[in-house]
Amino acid sequence: MKNFAYVRANSVQEAVQSSANTPQVMYIAGGTNLVDRLKVFLDQPERLIDISHLALKQIEATPEGLKIGALVTNTELADCPEVRRDYPLLSRAILAGASQQIRNMATVGGNLRQRTRCPYYYDTAFVCNKRDPGSGCPAVTGFNRMHAIFGASDQCVAVHPSDMCVALAALDAVVEVAGLQGKRQIPLVDFHRLPGNTPQRDTNLEPGELITSVILPPLPMAKSGVYLKLRDRTSYSFALISVAAALELDQGKIVQARLAMGGVAHKPWRLEAVEQFLVGKPALVDIFQEAAEIALGGAQPLAYNGFKIEMSKRAIRRALTVSAQGGGVV
Ligand code: SF4
Repeated sequence: MKNFAYVRANSVQEAVQSSANTPQVMYIAGGTNLVDRLKVFLDQPERLIDISHLALKQIEATPEGLKIGALVTNTELADCPEVRRDYPLLSRAILAGASQQIRNMATVGGNLRQRTRCPYYYDTAFVCNKRDPGSGCPAVTGFNRMHAIFGASDQCVAVHPSDMCVALAALDAVVEVAGLQGKRQIPLVDFHRLPGNTPQRDTNLEPGELITSVILPPLPMAKSGVYLKLRDRTSYSFALISVAAALELDQGKIVQARLAMGGVAHKPWRLEAVEQFLVGKPALVDIFQEAAEIALGGAQPLAYNGFKIEMSKRAIRRALTVSAQGGGVV
C-alpha cells in the first residue's frame, strides 16, 4: 500500500486549506466507498483529510429550503421527520440503497461523491478509462448489462450508482461547496458529469472543493412523490433502473411534473422535456405511457442492456400513476 499523510481537519476552512498544493488529496468521512477503493488501489492519495468531525451534521429549515449538512448520515436523513413528511420520495430512495449498516455510516456528501460500480472499474486486471485515462473501456464490448442507455461515450458507458441523487435531481436540490476560491452553489443536475472524453471526472467540483450542504427548496408537490427502484434482488443491490416522480394536479390536470431516472446514465437523468410534455395534460395512464415513450426516445442500448428500455417505460408509467393517486410506496 502506498503511504499517505493523514490530516484531521477541525473546520471547513482548515480542510480546504489542507488540500492546497497537493494534487492527490482526498476527503474522507463515512468512508463506505472510499475505503473499498483504497484497499484495491483504485485511489492512491498523497494526503487524506478526515472531515468527519466538522460541524456539518445539522438539518435545518432556512429561507432557501431545508438545508442538509454534508455529514448528515443517510439514516439520519431518511428518518428526518421533515423529510418523511415533505419529501417522502427522498426518504424512500435512501432506504432503497445499500444496507442499514452502510446507511448508518454513509454521509450525504459521500453519497454524492460515490463512484460507479462498473465491475471493470473495480477489477484492476482490466483496463479502464475512468481509472487510467486512455487505457480503454472493456465494458463497451463486454458484459454491459448494468451500464448506460443515455449520455454514454466511446470512452465510458458506466452509470452513477446513487439512489439518493436521483431523488435530489427530481427535487431541484442545490449543492453548496467550499473551496480555495470561496463558496458556491451548484444545481444537483449540474453537479455530476457525462463521461465524454474525461470519464475520470465524475463531478464538476474543482480540485480541493468540499461539499458542505445540500439544499432542498420548498416543493409542495413533493409530498406526492414516489421512488421506484427495480433491481436484481430486493435489498443491497444497485438499480437496474429507478424513477423519481412527482406530480401536482388541479382537477385532474397536471400543473407541474418532476421526473428523473437512475441506473441509465453517468449522472442522475432528469427528464425535463417529458415534464414539459406532461404539463396541461390530464393525469391518465395513456398520457403517462406517451410520456414514457418520449422519455426513452433517445435511448442507445448496448449489447446486453436493451431490456432497460421497456423496463424504464413501465416504471415511468407506474411511478407517474402512483404519484397522480397521491404518492406512497410503489
Ligand atoms: Fe471503466 Fe467506464 Fe469502461 Fe466501466 S464503463 S470499464 S468505468 S471506462
